[in-house]
Amino acid sequence: MLRATKIVATLGPASSDPVVLERIIAAGVNVVRINFSHGSTDEHVATVREVRRIAAQRGCDIGVLADLQGPKIRIGKFADGKVDLEPGDRFTFDIDCVIGDATRVGLDYKELVHDVKPGDTLLLNDGRMTMRVDATSATTIECTVIVGGVLSNRKGINRQGGGLSAPALTSKDMDDIRTAVALEADFLAVSFPKNAGDMYMARELMRAAGGKMLVIAKIERFEAIGNLEEILKASDGIMVARGDLAVEVGDAAVPALQKRMIRMARELNKLTITATQMMESMIEAPVPTRAEVSDVANAVLDGTDAVMLSAETAAGKYPVETVESMARICAEADRSQSSSLDAAFLNRAFTRVDQTIAMSALFVAQHLHVRAIVALTQSGSTALWMSRIDSGVPIYALTPEEGTRRRMCLYRETHPILFTYQAHEREALLIEAEQKLIERGVVEKGDLIIITIGEPIGKSGGTNSLKIVRVGEHA
Ligand code: PEP
Repeated sequence: MLRATKIVATLGPASSDPVVLERIIAAGVNVVRINFSHGSTDEHVATVREVRRIAAQRGCDIGVLADLQGPKIRIGKFADGKVDLEPGDRFTFDIDCVIGDATRVGLDYKELVHDVKPGDTLLLNDGRMTMRVDATSATTIECTVIVGGVLSNRKGINRQGGGLSAPALTSKDMDDIRTAVALEADFLAVSFPKNAGDMYMARELMRAAGGKMLVIAKIERFEAIGNLEEILKASDGIMVARGDLAVEVGDAAVPALQKRMIRMARELNKLTITATQMMESMIEAPVPTRAEVSDVANAVLDGTDAVMLSAETAAGKYPVETVESMARICAEADRSQSSSLDAAFLNRAFTRVDQTIAMSALFVAQHLHVRAIVALTQSGSTALWMSRIDSGVPIYALTPEEGTRRRMCLYRETHPILFTYQAHEREALLIEAEQKLIERGVVEKGDLIIITIGEPIGKSGGTNSLKIVRVGEHA
């Protein structure tokens, strides 16, 4: 079943068993997410090795997304692991507190005492609990509990409305960037960036360590919304990180922001991942709720490149069933998607030759009702441009470059295929490409297809021709 929308699955204890890992990959995972908020470096190395082994065995490409923890502000630990707080209780965050109790707990980010003021609202445990700040001192934040509940060790803490001064990259993130480079990860997700500068810094550190990853900005801070365009321009893509974002901007604001972010990203030729609680109930149950089915399908209809699973595949009881359900929902929603080759497409301005060929291929595909667009590519740029517009035609991206194939695992509607060729001139190369596609069972003799190619052959950024071919009609 051909699916345009990609699936990112977070790995963790529920998916670390090689048999489960193999099954979730077979069920449709395109990119795995290694979450640096949990697990040791040795565990991440072993996981990525296993993913690569399974991908090689299955003859497919699986991208690896390394997700930095970022400055997630967490409370310290309690003597009993947790406390139960009622509305009206007084509670203090105290930077000097080592082991907490029902009246106080420590903080891992000491500057928080300077970032908040009386009247502010603090949200804990992803917004499940709320406290009002009554007073602050050089070492404490005194609060009244508004919405109570069980608060356990190391839970996250946010200020409603954002405004925390923590830098986007911590020293742990800097170490983890080096680990991600050593793992040859394909995507680097930066948590809590506030502006383009945070993204430039992450890219610079990654490049200095010798990496070539695409950088993805996780949009989860209040401030990032105001700086969305500059963050997008400084990044290769964004993650709509709905968990923390909902805490900072209010949950009701998130659906409209999701639509705006995806639309803006596509207009700027950037990638999008829609994340968090997409199939949350499947942590415990083998089938999704109706609301989850609609949420996943709506993200597809918004035009996201990928939908992401978090605890569902990292710690849930039904990781395989979750991926199967998600793949089925995406495929159905993909089919109902209408083409977006409208007046806005025709009025788009571009000056590059390779981009003009990519856009022309979409135009031709729409008019001739072709079976497939085939991009012979080195860097994957033509596939990226083509995949920013919904044409309803699958894009097969043929390349000998492994890194390019793994990055294209995230591009909507794009199916990377390993293509090592012998030919040195165009006609022979096109015949080899056709044979490859027939071998893979994606086209048959008599199908009309479009092939984009660059001459001289094998030059990155050199796509300069487009050929319309009836498969099997070569000499
Ligand atoms: C989120 O907040 O939605 C998110 C994806 O971040 P994380 O899972 O890394 O906390």
